[in-house]
Formats: sequence, C-alpha cells, structure tokens
Amino acid sequence: MYFNDNTKIFLNGDWIKASEAQVSLYSQSLHYGIGVFEGIRSYELPGGETSIFKAREHYERLLYSAEKMHIVVNYPVEELTRITYRLLEHNKLTNAYIRPLVYLGNDMALAPTKETHVMIAAWEWKPLLGKELLRVTISPFRRPDPKSCFVDAKVTGHYINSLLAQHEAKARGFSEALLLDGKGFIAEGPGANIFMEKDKKLYTPPKGNILPGITRQTVIDLARNAGITVEEKYFTPAELKEADAAFFTGTAAEIVGINSIDDQKFKKDYNTSLGATLSKLYSQLVRTSEITV
Ligand code: PMP
Repeated sequence: MYFNDNTKIFLNGDWIKASEAQVSLYSQSLHYGIGVFEGIRSYELPGGETSIFKAREHYERLLYSAEKMHIVVNYPVEELTRITYRLLEHNKLTNAYIRPLVYLGNDMALAPTKETHVMIAAWEWKPLLGKELLRVTISPFRRPDPKSCFVDAKVTGHYINSLLAQHEAKARGFSEALLLDGKGFIAEGPGANIFMEKDKKLYTPPKGNILPGITRQTVIDLARNAGITVEEKYFTPAELKEADAAFFTGTAAEIVGINSIDDQKFKKDYNTSLGATLSKLYSQLVRTSEITV
C-alpha cells in the first residue's frame, strides 16, 4: 500500500528507493519514541496542478514539535515544501498523503542525540466517498497530562496513547475512541479533533490538552466566515451526548460525522447539520487553494 519497487522517498538530502531505505536498530527513536512527524494532504486542482494543503502550517508545526523535543532540523519550511512538491513529481502523485518524519541516530542514552534524519514519503490517497458516520465511545484512556509532555507537539511516542484507545474501542465493537483530558472534559479522538453542534452553534475544546489540528483551525475559520458561531470551551461527555450533532476533523479524513456516543444517537440528521455544510466548504477549499512554495 505505501510503496512499490519504483517509489522514491526523500532521506537526508537524497532521493532513494523506498524499498532500499534502511534504518538502524540502534536508533533512539525506535527505542524511546522520540521522533516528530506530520500528516499532510495534497490535492489535484481543477486545472490539473497539484496543491499541498497548508504546507506552511504543517511544516511550521513539524519544526515546533522538533524544537520542543530538542531536535535540530536543518531545513527551513520553504525548503521542506519545495522538497515535498518534488517528491510528488518523482512519484507522479497528485491526490496523496504525505508523511514527513524526523528521527534520531544511534544512542541509548536518555538525552536527545544530535544525529537527526529527515525522511519524507508520500502515497496515493483516494477520496473517502460516502464516509460512514462513526459509532464513538468514550475511552477509558485519557490524553497525556500537558505537564508530562508537550501534547501540542506531534511526537511519535505520544501515539501509543492513541493506539491503546483505538484498540480498546474497536475491541468493544465501536468505530472510534474519544479521549478525555485529565480533568474529565472531552479532549479529542486518537487522531482527530472534535466539534459539537448545539442550537446552531459549534463548540470545540480549547488548546491545552489537544493537538491543535490544522483542519480544526481551518474549520473554525470556514465556519466564522459563513457566519456560524464557534466557541472554544471545555465540555463534558454528558453535554456532548445532549448535543444536536458532532464531527471529527483531521487532515486525512477531513470532516467525518459522528452518529452516536456510547450508542446514544445525536438528535439531528447529520446531513442537515453544520458538519455536513462545513464538509462541503472544506472539500471546495482544499481543491482551490493556491500553491505556495
Ligand atoms: N489530534 C491528533 C491526536 C492527531 O493525531 C491529529 C492528526 N494530525 C489531529 C488531532 C488533527 O490534526 P490535523 O487537522 O492537523 O491533521
């Protein structure tokens, strides 16, 4: 799925075959989960060109995540963006998912090592048509305490929390988990931010216990431009269950409607909810965005 014999990746300044790329078993990232990454989408525009959606925001977040983890990345945002466009050309990709990863060299000590590797891979991403509404459950796993790690950084090791939550939700027959923060308020999904709709207004948890999603910010901007009120505030699982509708946002899945929380269905038909309206606006925006290199 991710690569074939012809796939090229960018690795530390070189273009190499994905099938020939190697990583050391002594990499500190493999042992301790210290690495930073991004998930980015590119889209084919009506004229046939390829546009990477919000490349600047994604690469700024990558460099922010690296800085928080004391990882030095010697590529500025503009260069990372240019490299990514070349990566798409090399692999003849238009609608793609792009995965930059910064990982570290050989070191078993519990201090960030200086040897840094920058890898960027991409693979085809087919539009998810007729997305099914999600059956969500409140996870017994909580998001990491912001005093324990930088929850707003996209760090590889943080994702064990997402994996545990998702596995537990699936094991109980649900399609997706929803995690609370340390105080018991709704935080986010394993790989997506959440919005709820109540009386024609939108609510989403504030920054602090979440990964501040680029899609989340785009949806806030789109909603406000369309005259929809969006409030960033804490809310409980009980308040969420009493909402009219809800949806997840994230780069890969874009906007996905939620059918129920712990089998309690939302009152509104998702197709008539603000989530459905914003989903259409988002879909138009990503396919008309200017190319910025
Ligand atoms: N929260 C988490 C934990 C995530 O992994 C993601 C995906 N990057 C998001 C939220 C959504 O972020 P974005 O919209 O930037 O993809």
